Amino acid sequence: MGVRVIRKSVRRALSRSNLPGVDFTINPYTGCTHGCIYCYARSYCQKEVGENWGSVVIVKENIPEVLGKELRRRPSGRVVLSTMTDPYQPLEKEEELTRRILEILLINGCKVGIQTKSDLVLRDMDLLSQNLNLVDVGFTITMLDKDFARKIEPYAPSPQRRIRALERLSDEGVRTWIFMGPVIPGVDEKEIEEIVEIAGKTSSSLYYDKFRVKGFMKSGFVAEMAEKAAKTDWKELSQRINKICEKYGVKAIPAFGNV
Ligand code: SF4
Repeated sequence: MGVRVIRKSVRRALSRSNLPGVDFTINPYTGCTHGCIYCYARSYCQKEVGENWGSVVIVKENIPEVLGKELRRRPSGRVVLSTMTDPYQPLEKEEELTRRILEILLINGCKVGIQTKSDLVLRDMDLLSQNLNLVDVGFTITMLDKDFARKIEPYAPSPQRRIRALERLSDEGVRTWIFMGPVIPGVDEKEIEEIVEIAGKTSSSLYYDKFRVKGFMKSGFVAEMAEKAAKTDWKELSQRINKICEKYGVKAIPAFGNV
């Protein structure tokens, strides 16, 4: 898939956040070439990026320098990379914005949470393993079926690659978590249990969130998913997830308050 890269300078790096446990977020990029068909971020960014989700990405090229200046004011709290893009999407291999941001945050003693679908995060193992008291890393894992994953998260690394990276980080002593979100409507309960089991084996917590129907989900497969989501009893599903987590001794956390 061809990707159009737009380079921009920004005036701000840190954004305040109301998400539980998150004080600030940093998004080094706008847009994400993983191109998940359900991604909500497309509703909250520039039109050109949102309408061409997955094929246009803005690279915020001066964001590490801007962050460095902002940190002189010593803001305190946990910073999450990222909520509106994947900080380890393929472009990061050359751009290294996430790595530079991570270095600056850690030198300044900031707590950092990373959320990704990519095993490229392993490239920064040196920074992570030297700062075990400051960092945590979460992988979004919505399902285990490779073919289904390819259909809805077309350009993201397979769930199996994410799991291997999660195990590696956990083995190195990095605090880890899994984000099962959105819970895919109709996903097999057996698969949910397998994901929880992986969380148990890697001592990871499990955040989860229901599938939220958005205005752009009007056609194609995502529309079918939205239709199923509207018919799902989320409260009941949430109780089942909590029960499975209890069975495996996994801490279950509904991601954005109660579902
Ligand atoms: S990886 Fe995350 S940010 Fe990127 S398209 Fe998928 S859901 Fe959106």
